[in-house]
Amino acid sequence: MSIISDSLKRIKPSPTIAVTQKARELRAAGKDVIGLGAGEPDFDTPENIKQAAIKAIENGDTKYTAVDGTPALKNAIVEKFKRENNLDYSTDQITVGTGGKQVLYNAFMATLNKGDEVIIPAPFWVSYPDMVLLAGGKPKIVKCTEEEGFKITPKKLKKAIGKKTKWLILNSPSNPTGAGYSKNEIEGLAKVLIKHKKVQILSDDIYEHIKYDDFNFYTIAQNSKLKDRTLTMNGVSKSYAMTGWRIGYAAGPKEIIKAIGKIQSQSTSNPSSVSQAAAVEALNGKQDFIQERSDAFKERRDFVVNSLNSIKGINCLTPNGAFYVFPSCKKLLGKKTKLKTDTDFVRELLEKQNVAVVQGSAFGLDGYFRISYATSIENLKKAMERIKSFCESLS
Ligand code: PLP
Repeated sequence: MSIISDSLKRIKPSPTIAVTQKARELRAAGKDVIGLGAGEPDFDTPENIKQAAIKAIENGDTKYTAVDGTPALKNAIVEKFKRENNLDYSTDQITVGTGGKQVLYNAFMATLNKGDEVIIPAPFWVSYPDMVLLAGGKPKIVKCTEEEGFKITPKKLKKAIGKKTKWLILNSPSNPTGAGYSKNEIEGLAKVLIKHKKVQILSDDIYEHIKYDDFNFYTIAQNSKLKDRTLTMNGVSKSYAMTGWRIGYAAGPKEIIKAIGKIQSQSTSNPSSVSQAAAVEALNGKQDFIQERSDAFKERRDFVVNSLNSIKGINCLTPNGAFYVFPSCKKLLGKKTKLKTDTDFVRELLEKQNVAVVQGSAFGLDGYFRISYATSIENLKKAMERIKSFCESLS
């Protein structure tokens, strides 16, 4: 009999973390590897936020706090939703966890019974299906094509909803494609969801603040008919370059919020007291960082998209947000190049040119790869040259 539980056997370790780890190992072995696998901003946490954390330590804010967040942070989150999304919540509709990841995990653990289905549009963030499986649910993957901008359409949504559907996950701007849903697109999905009253919506808004051009962020809870069955998850990791601080949060129905707190009370208890104090400053303090950082990301996005599209065999859409691109390598797969899958493409790219990216199949769509451009423009220039040489060597 195995010592490992059956539920753990259903899941696999995060492939994006595996790529980052592999790149780290190769670098330690002396190879000049450029890692484009990691999903974190390369910017440092803004100074005012760091200072708030130092002050919290000096003030003795080093004890347990309320399990699902300090009143100060919950108030700051209530204000954030009001200010930025025109959404009204009370503090008992807010929960704070150790990163958005924990909030999502707790939400599934709190709500899924065996066999409950969760609709996950693909390409998806790698953790969604495994979290659902771990909680005993069934991921219902809906593939969204490049022609559809990698976004679920109302028609596909309608077809995917069944008797067992408990949740629909929406992630805009998206990891791994950077695609953002416009207000019109969200309202198109809302029309379908209004008719299916048993479906809950989980909106993952973690990349809300990383957006470009004239893309206007809109979140589905802004539709008043759906607000009562939407759990909106967000956090400070990506918006304020605070991935290591581990603070994420959600707003939604009291019943779910309370259940999430119950799980947290028997697992991790409160998120770090010092990180919570820092997150209060992130949300309440000056917001200039967001625009400055988005401008820098936009320059990198434009450079990466243009470079990729100049390579024969590669095709790359221009994303609305986040710091990822999801180019197609389909034309470079087949007998001629001897590369059968995107996984072969990615492996060979790492072996031959020391560039680490992640295969599209890890995100539920074959024939693509994900590049994170959250690294310096110098690194990106080197990486694009290497990808170009690699692709040219194939034909
Ligand atoms: N959701 C998406 C789409 C993500 O890409 C990530 C992080 O990579 C998260 C949620 C979780 O972020 P965190 O746990 O750092 O708040």
